[in-house]
Amino acid sequence: MLECSPVYKTSNTMTIIDNLANSGWVLLLLAAVIGACFGSFITLLAHRLPRDEPVVATRSRCPQCHTPLRSRDLVPVLSYLWSRGQCRHCALRISPRYLMIELVTAVCFVLLVWQFGLSTQAGILVLLAVCLIALIVIDFEHYIIPDSLQVAMIVLGVAYCFVMERVIDVYIVGALVGLLIGLVLRYGFLWLRNKDALGMGDVKFLFVVGLWLGAKPLVPFLFIAGLLGIATSLLWRALRQGALFPFGPALAIAMVICLLWPELPALFWQADRWVGVFR
Ligand SMILES: [Zn+2]
Repeated sequence: MLECSPVYKTSNTMTIIDNLANSGWVLLLLAAVIGACFGSFITLLAHRLPRDEPVVATRSRCPQCHTPLRSRDLVPVLSYLWSRGQCRHCALRISPRYLMIELVTAVCFVLLVWQFGLSTQAGILVLLAVCLIALIVIDFEHYIIPDSLQVAMIVLGVAYCFVMERVIDVYIVGALVGLLIGLVLRYGFLWLRNKDALGMGDVKFLFVVGLWLGAKPLVPFLFIAGLLGIATSLLWRALRQGALFPFGPALAIAMVICLLWPELPALFWQADRWVGVFR
């Protein structure tokens, strides 16, 4: 319901935001477009962060013929479709991965805005989604989680605590417990099996997860992450036949599941009532 109260008439910006918030599909369309642009930015991050290249200073180039990309090559989704997935100069095939990242990010933006509306909460969550998608792409390709992404997610996590009026102590304890679990798992595996099962990037990311979830949901989180990790390792063996597989994507997806469905960790804690195992 849009009411033209005198308050809104005095501020054009407020009227625009208010109209957008009231016209659902326009807002979702806008979220999709902005999401696709951020998807394009993720591709840039995924290429430059692991190589320690500056993120914004230079123009993107074709990796084969080095022709700088022009603005019409940079329109998310549409550029890929127009050029039929090829560089316009040297016809290098561009991986459909880029298109997929843009589409996935657009879908995440739409779902988050649909769920949380035009709010600061949605704003922080879409930025977290950008970091997590970049983390998944980079870890799959380079087996690392860049520190800059971790720092961004820590800043967003603290901001989320303030916006949602969370008791920040609970989440700082969560972060420390996450870090401790990470260190125990890493050095436990190294000591017991002489195996580098959990990289330092994963350990630091467990700190981030604890900061976002708090300590108690970390138990069901680890359970879900473990299951997803097994699925990833099986997929990895099927695809590349390598023993080493990235664990970051499983951690990231488990974190999203626990964050968006807080009832799930609660159900996990109540599971003993149904099963009667722990009585
Ligand atoms: Zn080219």
